[in-house]
Amino acid sequence: MAEIIIDGKAVAARVRAEVAADVKRLGQLGIEPGLAVILVGEDPASHSYVGMKERDCAEVGIRSFDTRLPADTSQGALEAIIDGFNEDAAVHGILLQLPLPGHLDAESAIARIAPEKDVDGFHPVSIGRLVRGLPSAHACTPEGVMELLRAYEIDPAGKRAVVIGRSVLVGKPMALLLIEANATVTVCHSRTHDLPGVCREADILVAAIGRPEMIDASYVKPGAVVIDVGINRVGDRLVGDVAYEDVAAVASAITPVPGGVGPMTRAILLKNTLAAAEAAGR
Ligand code: NDP
Repeated sequence: MAEIIIDGKAVAARVRAEVAADVKRLGQLGIEPGLAVILVGEDPASHSYVGMKERDCAEVGIRSFDTRLPADTSQGALEAIIDGFNEDAAVHGILLQLPLPGHLDAESAIARIAPEKDVDGFHPVSIGRLVRGLPSAHACTPEGVMELLRAYEIDPAGKRAVVIGRSVLVGKPMALLLIEANATVTVCHSRTHDLPGVCREADILVAAIGRPEMIDASYVKPGAVVIDVGINRVGDRLVGDVAYEDVAAVASAITPVPGGVGPMTRAILLKNTLAAAEAAGR
């Protein structure tokens, strides 16, 4: 069994407690961090995510501005709401819940958010700054992975890291953050030849694929750190992209699903909102 089972719930609770303490400190300076969450349409999973984010905000003392729009909202109406939040000094972060209904242009809507209020790290300016190695809001899930590595004192510097997945939301920013942390990074995807062989070179293996339990022990170098970003529903079970029992037998450290990376994504959103409020200084 892996020596370390990385406990995302515990690390996320620590991050939330730190954010709550910092929110109190900002309160003494007359600053109340505010997060605007925009949800378009009736997707039940999105409604449930947004509900959880609002509860998280309430727990740490961040004020939420809840905006739920009908599925037939026009691009113009959505962008007018974003413009309103861009101008509202009480709003420090703007989160546009994805996916948007098919008739809406998500790229254009994301680009409309004022870069300094981007707490998802998806804005082209945030991503451009990350590529350039400048401070910016980092995408919540990959930054959550970095926070877990820091919490367990797993330093990527000089290590071989392999990221499976090249999405804009997870894989690509994950690779960039690992490069920033001085890892030697390989990014794999559905066209990679000999995926198990490439993965076996990894000291740190990050799976962000969306394929239930695809990564078994044959992909893992003995002693590697394995981070499972995947969240897949199989019947009434939630499983990752990693075959947990099989891989835990060879890895030195591993994240479970649930209770690994998942809780971190929401905690980092709070941290990014706090950072935006601190940077705004009002
Ligand atoms: P996407 O579907 O956008 O990307 C999946 C990536 O995996 C693609 O780059 C794809 O390659 C690659 N891939 C798919 N099949 C294979 C394969 N057989 N071999 C190698 N690579 C493959 O997914 P996301 O990045 O948005 O999410 C990935 C997983 O992470 C999902 O399970 C999702 O639910 C979960 N997730 C979890 C979060 C959390 O909070 N823990 C947050 C966000 C996502 P190609 O580009 O060639 O198609």
